[in-house]
Formats: sequence, structure tokens, C-alpha cells
Amino acid sequence: MAIHEKSLIRPENLKTHDKLVIDGVDVSGHWSTFIEPRVVTDYNEALQDEIAALPGGEHIHRCWQCGSCTNSCTVNAVNPDFNPRYWIYLIRIGMESELLRDKDIIWQCVSCNKCTYACPRDVVPEGVMKATAHWLELKGHTPKSNSQIFDEVFTEQVVATGKIEEGRTIRGFFARTGQPLAQEWLVEMVKRVARRLPFKQGIAMAWSTVFRPKTKNWSKARAALGEYIHEQEARNRKALSLPDRHSGDLH
Ligand code: SF4
Ligand code: SF4
Repeated sequence: MAIHEKSLIRPENLKTHDKLVIDGVDVSGHWSTFIEPRVVTDYNEALQDEIAALPGGEHIHRCWQCGSCTNSCTVNAVNPDFNPRYWIYLIRIGMESELLRDKDIIWQCVSCNKCTYACPRDVVPEGVMKATAHWLELKGHTPKSNSQIFDEVFTEQVVATGKIEEGRTIRGFFARTGQPLAQEWLVEMVKRVARRLPFKQGIAMAWSTVFRPKTKNWSKARAALGEYIHEQEARNRKALSLPDRHSGDLH
């Protein structure tokens, strides 16, 4: 899998001589640029299998490195370091330490799925980005991203009540991410919605915010959902050779 990309060369491995003459020829400055050799000893041979075991990463093995995902990527257009093709390459050859150099930007995928539509091999790069962000969090390399926290708050509410109440979800998300509730954009949005909302609907929304209604006879479905979530979490952790952890935070 050939790759010719400057980003693979660490800046600290590029050397130039300000003053160098060889056999009477002046090769000072960039004419004398060379790349220091380096030896990679920390391959993770299970890396591709670990990512493939997580939801979204299943088809990573199909990638043939055409680069269409990166070319079409929304985030790459504003940040050239965000490079799904390159990360898929690193994962496939097990270069975990290289992947970890970009751990703080991988979560920035906005799930627009432009890469998924562009991919000629049905790799679903968006899913691979999600799986990789999940892998980083499970392995303890990154804290949970805001997007993961939002998914958790949303899921907890569905499991607990069988319903979604947007106000409660937003409050829970802000509380868990340490953000103030009275954000300018939110206050403005609530004002605008309140101005246009029919009176009856407004009362219904206020009522569900305060009393947290549940779907009728929800307990069986709730138990089944909780069991499924626990099974999936245990399966993911086992694939990454991590000890099981009961998802006791789902209530
Ligand atoms: S889904 Fe993510 S990786 Fe794919 S194009 Fe959108 S931002 Fe880029
Ligand atoms: S578009 Fe698909 S096949 Fe091409 S590099 Fe991206 S993931 Fe691989």
C-alpha cells in the first residue's frame, strides 16, 4: 500500500544544513534536505480488527486508499490535518502511535456522510471515524467527546421513559458538559418558539418537562433495551481486550 504524503514525515525528522559543500558543490539550505530514518517498533497488529469490531468500523478492510473520502470531506476543507483516508491507512497497517498523534481531531467528524457517498468501496468512512473516536475513548486515550455525551443523555432518557423530551435532554447535556443553561442562542430560540407555539402545545410541553411522563407498560421494553445495551458494551470491550464494566449509569 504505497503512500506518498508529506504529512507522514515528522518535521523533527527533516534535516537541512545551512552551509554544506560536497565535492566542491554548494548544497546549502533546502538542497541538502534529508529525512532521518526511523524504526517503528510499536505496531498493534490487532488494530484493524479492534476498529472493525466496533459499530461503524465493520468495512474498513475494503479500503483501497483512493482518497475520495478525504477529497469530499467537509472538515478536511477547513482543516487539512483531518484526513480519514490517512487514518484508515494507519489503522490497516497497525500504526497505533501515528494514529494517536491525531487523537485530538478525529472526533471532529460532523457525520455529514459526504465521504460515505463518495467511497467507491462501501467502506462507510463516517462509520470508521465514529468507531475510531469510540476506540480512542474506550482505550482511555481521549475523554468522552460532547457528541458521545449527547448520545448517552439521549439514550438514557429513551431507556428510562420510552419518550424524548427535548428540554430535559438539552438540560442534561449542558449539566454533564459543564455548560450554562442560559446560553444566548438557546434563550433566543426558546423565545421565538414560545411566540409561535399554540397555547395548548405550550402547556403540554411544560407539563412533560415537569412530570416526565413515561410510555405505558414500558418496564419490559426498558429491561430488554438495558440488557441489549449492556451486551453490546460488553462485546465492544471484549473485542478491545478490556475488562467488562456493567453500564450501571443507564437508568
Ligand atoms: S462524515 Fe466525517 S469524515 Fe465523512 S465527510 Fe463528513 S466530516 Fe468528513
Ligand atoms: S473513499 Fe473509500 S476506498 Fe477511497 S480511501 Fe476513502 S475509505 Fe478508502
